[in-house]
Amino acid sequence: HAKQAGKGTFAFFEPRIGEVVQQRVRLEEALRNAILRDELSIAIQSQYSPSGRLSGGEVLVRWLVGPDGVPVSPGAFIPVAESSGLIKPLTLLVLDKALAVIRQMMQRGIHIPLSVNFSTDLFRDEELINGVLELLAEAGVPAELLVLEITESLFIDTHSDVLDNMGRLMEAGLKFSLDDFGTGYSNLAYLKKMHLSELKIDKSFVDNLPGDDDNRAIVRSILSIARQLKLRVVAEGVETHSQADFLAAHGCDLLQGFLLHKPEPADSWLIELENCFSEKKCHKGVDPS
Ligand code: C2E
Ligand code: MG
Ligand code: MG
Ligand code: MG
Repeated sequence: HAKQAGKGTFAFFEPRIGEVVQQRVRLEEALRNAILRDELSIAIQSQYSPSGRLSGGEVLVRWLVGPDGVPVSPGAFIPVAESSGLIKPLTLLVLDKALAVIRQMMQRGIHIPLSVNFSTDLFRDEELINGVLELLAEAGVPAELLVLEITESLFIDTHSDVLDNMGRLMEAGLKFSLDDFGTGYSNLAYLKKMHLSELKIDKSFVDNLPGDDDNRAIVRSILSIARQLKLRVVAEGVETHSQADFLAAHGCDLLQGFLLHKPEPADSWLIELENCFSEKKCHKGVDPS
C-alpha cells in the first residue's frame, strides 16, 4: 500500500493488478488441467423453425468444477483460453464430442446439423484445420451436418490465409455462421467473401423486440440484407412469444432461446431427441397461425 497519499497512486493500485494477474494464472492452470483430465462437457440448445420444427442445435462448452459441479461461465474462461493457446485443444475436444453426438443422431436416423463455436484466430492455424477435417473423417460424419459459428467482433483483422483456410473447410462441405451479428465490425462486403451461409442476430437486438423502434428497424434490415445475400438467419436469445412472432412475421429462418429450449447436457438432449422423433412430436407450438 502507498505510504503517502497522492504520491503513491501507482503503488496503491499495484496489489490489485497483482491479484487480477494471479487469478488469471490460476484460472488458466485450472482450465489446462480440466482439458487434460477431460473434465469439460457440452450442452446443446435446440433451434426451431418459426413453425416449430426442430432444425438444429448449438453446442456450448460446459465446465463444472468440484464435487458439486459449480459451473464456470464460458464468458469467463473462453477469453482466457483464447489468449493462452488453450482454445485449440478445447475446440478439438468440443468438436470431438459434438461429432460423437451427430454420429449417434445419425444412427437413430436423425439428420439435423449442430453448430460449434469457433474462435476466429483458429483459422490461421493450418494444423487445426487439418485436425478438424481428420476428426470429421474419423467420425464418419458428413461435413454438411457441421456448422462453425464465428464471432463477428474478431473479424476486423482478417488475414488472407484465414479466408483460404475457411475456403478449404467450405469446399469440404462445412458451413459457416456469423455469430452475434450486428455487434462487431465486419463490413457488408465481407459477408460474401467469408463463405458464410448463416447470420445469427445478436441477442441484444432481440431483447426488446417488438417494442423498441431502433431494434425493430435493425432486425428488419438484417433480415432484408440476409435475404438478398441468400443467407439463413437465426435469432438468438428469444425469450418471449412476442419476439418470436415478430421474427417469424419478418422471415427469420430459425429461432433459438430460452422460450423454446434451454441448453441441456448432450446425453439428455439426445434422449429427448430420440423420444420426440419416435413419437413424431419434435414440434413446438410457437406459431400463432
Ligand atoms: P454464443 O455463441 O452467442 O451462445 C449463446 C449464449 O446465450 C449461450 O451462453 C446460451 O446459453 C445463451 N442463451 C441462449 N438462449 C438464451 C436466452 O434466451 N436468454 C439468455 N439470457 N441467454 C441465452 P453460454 O453457454 O454462457 O456461452 C457464452 C458464449 O461463450 C457463447 O456465446 C460463445 O461465444 C462462447 N462459447 C460457448 N461455448 C463455446 C465453445 O465451445 N467454443 C468457443 N470458442 N466459444 C464458446
Ligand atoms: Mg454461438
Ligand atoms: Mg451468439
Ligand atoms: Mg451471443
